[in-house]
Amino acid sequence: MDTASDNNMPSSESINRYLEGKLNRTLPQESSDSLDAPISAAEIQRIVTRLKGGKCPGPDGLPAEYYKSYSDVLTPHMESLFASLRDGDKLHPHTLSATISVLKKPGKDDADVRNYRPISLLNTDLKILAKIMATRLAPLLPAFIHADQVGFIPGREARDATTRVLSAIGLAKRTHTGLLLLSTDAEKAFDRVSWRFLFSVLARLGVGGYFLSWLEALYTNPTARVKANGALSETFRVRNGTRQGCPLSPLLFALSLEPLLESIRLNPSIAGIQGHTSEHKVSAYADDLLFLLSSLATSLPAVVQTLEEYGTLAAYCINRAKSEFLGISLDHSSISYLRRSYSFRYCPDRMRYLGVWLASSTRLLHDLNFLAILLSFRTDMAAWTGGLLSWFGRIAVLKMNLMPRLLYLFNALAITIPLSFFTALRSELLKFVWPRGCPRVGFAVLCRPKASGGLALPDPRKYYLACHLARVVEWSGIGRERRWLDLERALTDRPLWTLPWLPPPRPTAQRADPDPMSATLHIWHTRKISLGLSSSRSPLLPLSHNPELLSGILPSLRARMTDSDRLQAIDLPPGGNLELSPRSIQLGPLSYLEQFNFYQLKSYLRSLNCSFSLSRPLLPFERLCQAGHPLTRGISTLYGMIMSTDTEAPSFEARWERELGFSISPDQWSKTYTLVHKGSSATRIQETSFKLLSFWYKTPSLLHSIYPSTPSECWRCAQDTGTLSHIWWSCPRIKGFWCEVQDAICQVTDVKLPHTPECFLLF
Ligand SMILES: [Zn+2]
Repeated sequence: MDTASDNNMPSSESINRYLEGKLNRTLPQESSDSLDAPISAAEIQRIVTRLKGGKCPGPDGLPAEYYKSYSDVLTPHMESLFASLRDGDKLHPHTLSATISVLKKPGKDDADVRNYRPISLLNTDLKILAKIMATRLAPLLPAFIHADQVGFIPGREARDATTRVLSAIGLAKRTHTGLLLLSTDAEKAFDRVSWRFLFSVLARLGVGGYFLSWLEALYTNPTARVKANGALSETFRVRNGTRQGCPLSPLLFALSLEPLLESIRLNPSIAGIQGHTSEHKVSAYADDLLFLLSSLATSLPAVVQTLEEYGTLAAYCINRAKSEFLGISLDHSSISYLRRSYSFRYCPDRMRYLGVWLASSTRLLHDLNFLAILLSFRTDMAAWTGGLLSWFGRIAVLKMNLMPRLLYLFNALAITIPLSFFTALRSELLKFVWPRGCPRVGFAVLCRPKASGGLALPDPRKYYLACHLARVVEWSGIGRERRWLDLERALTDRPLWTLPWLPPPRPTAQRADPDPMSATLHIWHTRKISLGLSSSRSPLLPLSHNPELLSGILPSLRARMTDSDRLQAIDLPPGGNLELSPRSIQLGPLSYLEQFNFYQLKSYLRSLNCSFSLSRPLLPFERLCQAGHPLTRGISTLYGMIMSTDTEAPSFEARWERELGFSISPDQWSKTYTLVHKGSSATRIQETSFKLLSFWYKTPSLLHSIYPSTPSECWRCAQDTGTLSHIWWSCPRIKGFWCEVQDAICQVTDVKLPHTPECFLLF
């Protein structure tokens, strides 16, 4: 590489010596081949169609839209370009140039240059190549990157890290283990990664030569210009760092971090917190590292030394003054020792981590995160209420700006949230949608899907339930390793997958706090029946690992019913006839011991007195748990499942039927709802349609019944009582208008519509 001439760079030999023993897995040949395969036209086109439009282009000024519109013409050229890179050609310097824009980090001092985040604006063709490489590399990462690292790895999310810390805090408090949470701030980590280190890591993993040559093409002599306040700097050469804004860079960063994390895991001087089967020492989300440390006198110096050793080789630098620590069950003397000996910032009761506040109790977690977001909603909504937003606009603000922030918290912090929070939230939201006067449409109607007469506003409480239910499904999961499962398992005496299907365990004297496991379990047991998710006993009742079945199950008997080590009621042979089940016959006649054990099992099942519940077909939620594979779009699926339990029609349906004097079929209603939202692309017309549909407008007769001093007559003709059907349909002053509409439609489309109010107002 070009940077070889730099004298202060560590040599490849010292890097390789360091990597020895820290990266033991290599890519299987077929994965390495798939990374190296020539880039096909189809692959390029797949990426081009997925490019996001509306983005700032790189220095060549060609935006994604250009590549999308002319993809047929451009694809063959890109194909031959990428093929030539594979043969060692270099990219044109102009292709490799980038404009660096700086964004200020919110809430930080704007006079300090370190508080600006540089974002590289790359040329789109470069991005296409990087995206193709990222798409090839990403699926291989979970096998290489330990579950401690969750950022940007397919199938892992930030909440895997946050939930894990909550359980660790709860566990430390319950076992009275002094635990230090140390969150380190790496100085511009993405931009500093040493290329030599990165290439050594990739080579060690067995990444193929062609993939590396593409990577070299991307990283050889790139140049950049900084754009600040509209002015461009001189061009300069970039010598290290993965580029922020490049889709490949977080994946490369994750790979280059893995040796550090492995050396922490392997270091016997560093003590973490013991889970059910393994020790937990560190959690990583991109460059956000969180250490979970006990035995501080030895652990902390070892961590600092490990970081320094890695730092000199990989050009990774920790900013100590910006790194923070929070003590859990730590005594005063340890804390004052830490403050004396290390320059890390001390957080007395709270610490910011991945967008949430960590604290040492459920109550504090609730106040710092959820009460705080309620307050910030109040301020934000006050800023939005300027009279400039339409009614639909307000709902869009809730959906796009406020709700995602709240939903992230529900996801990240699996704690119990009191009902009072949701009541307060709901009244805030309604006050924002209707700043003057009372709500004209119920909150439940607003939250219904659009196809069922609502406006698809996320219902916070149901979303919160869905987040907990997703965890119930994950407890049953097989395969994907999530580190928090191991810590939650340490908080209970039985396997997590059995918990939902057994009666709730008796509360023990020493409860953990926070305790995501118990929070989820409590919500599950109080909601499973009302939400139609399961019954009090289910076919998924565990027969192995079941504390109610005192005799236990012989492994040889279990093998007659299932392959897995989990035996459940659903695995019982039909009619309880083990003698007739083909699986059991294959294994030969039952031994006396097995026979006796089977009788014990049967007598236990009889004692439960619920043979129907145990043999009924599985409900949809139970099927998800039984399938055991990770849910794609899990929380939306579960949210939809909860929403579908609300089968009550919006009250305005019955009101319309009373007004019109006949009943309207559900089919017709759903057509009406489609028409309301899709009949016109103009928001104003959609809004008026919905307002008419939902009896938003108050008629004179209604106003008269509330305020007797106001006249009840129609304000147009002043002859008849102003009921809804008069105002919108039968008033003599408006009749002519509807006739004109009818004629106009007839002239344009040759369709003679029936002259009825339902046809013109609803259908
Ligand atoms: Zn009238």
